Amino acid sequence: ASLFAAIDLAPRDPILGLNEAFAADKRDTKVNLGVGVYYDDAGKIPLLAAVREAEKLRFEQAAARGYLPIEGIAAYDAAVGKLLFGAESPIVTEGRLVTAQALGGTGALKIGADFLKRYFPASKVLISNPSWENHRALFESAGFEVGTYAYYVSPTDGANVAGMLADLKAAAPQTIVVLHACCHNPTGVDLTADDWKQVVEVVKERNLIAFLDIAYQGFGDGIDADAVAVRLFADAGISFLVSSSFSKSFSLYGERVGALTVVDGSKDESARVLSQLKRVIRTNYSNPPTHGGTVVASVLNTPELRKLWEDELAGMRDRIKTMRAGLAEGLGEKFAFVTRQRGMFSYTGLSAAQVERLKEEFGIYAVSSGRICVAALNSKNLGYVVDAIGKVVA
Ligand code: PMP
Repeated sequence: ASLFAAIDLAPRDPILGLNEAFAADKRDTKVNLGVGVYYDDAGKIPLLAAVREAEKLRFEQAAARGYLPIEGIAAYDAAVGKLLFGAESPIVTEGRLVTAQALGGTGALKIGADFLKRYFPASKVLISNPSWENHRALFESAGFEVGTYAYYVSPTDGANVAGMLADLKAAAPQTIVVLHACCHNPTGVDLTADDWKQVVEVVKERNLIAFLDIAYQGFGDGIDADAVAVRLFADAGISFLVSSSFSKSFSLYGERVGALTVVDGSKDESARVLSQLKRVIRTNYSNPPTHGGTVVASVLNTPELRKLWEDELAGMRDRIKTMRAGLAEGLGEKFAFVTRQRGMFSYTGLSAAQVERLKEEFGIYAVSSGRICVAALNSKNLGYVVDAIGKVVA
């Protein structure tokens, strides 16, 4: 028999299954709200003008494609740190951080997980309930046991801050806590700055290891506003990790641009942490690809391109908010919570049966949890979606 004859079929990714069913649907009114990408008002994934300009420059310079350093492009890594903490942050000016370019936010989480496993092999990992489905799988595949902390109550009641704090207080020292820094996926429910202060307090007091995942910086309330959690952790003077993704904020999904940042106690510590991160990277994929990092670094570090990008990012953010307002207006008071949620996603409170009806009767595809991608709504399909949701909740 073949070597692999006894291998089981791995379970299908439920969201990919949804996309396949959507592609096969012949109705021309169909709408896919199950996706995890930002579409513009024409229903297309945008190619940002700032990205196009940076690509033109790169093309004109016709740079050779040698290997990058293991930790990626220095100008990129430095720009990521400033975007997270602000250029004036003592963490940045004192060099109490290490940033390594990574293959998207996912790659950053994976490097971070492998690094942590080496130094905290007995630690457990806690993720939010619910969380982005890959968090659990990623940390389990790095060898950790993964549990959850309370996070979400309901669309109308939002976050369960007391429950979350209680779970964190009950966690053993050095438990790794994965936190969505902004625009929580899948719920859209974020903590307030005051809630975050309490979380930081508990993490510090209990000696937990915070791992902040920031995949939507700029999609909530703005670049700096969305960094509030990251900066409160920075102010606390503790060590923690951050995974950044530019997949959404630069609309560069397929270029795999992200970064892992480790905040530590000193410049000297940073040098040693970097040496260990390099070892993790070297044994995984050796060094990152050139294109996405070059483009993002050039946009972040060139004032005119930076301004252009910030405007385009604000455009995406505002369009999402307009769609949220449209949903709330069309569906009435019961759905006012949609405008309090942040980022691309909304937990609508629709049941699996209602989601099924949306698909069967209207060709509107959503995740069975009731998660919709608000960024897949546009001025053409909004009315249709509002009507359909109105009918299934009636
Ligand atoms: N973290 C969260 C919370 C996400 O939603 C995503 C992407 N959907 C990622 C990380 C991964 O981002 P990337 O595509 O850059 O790997």
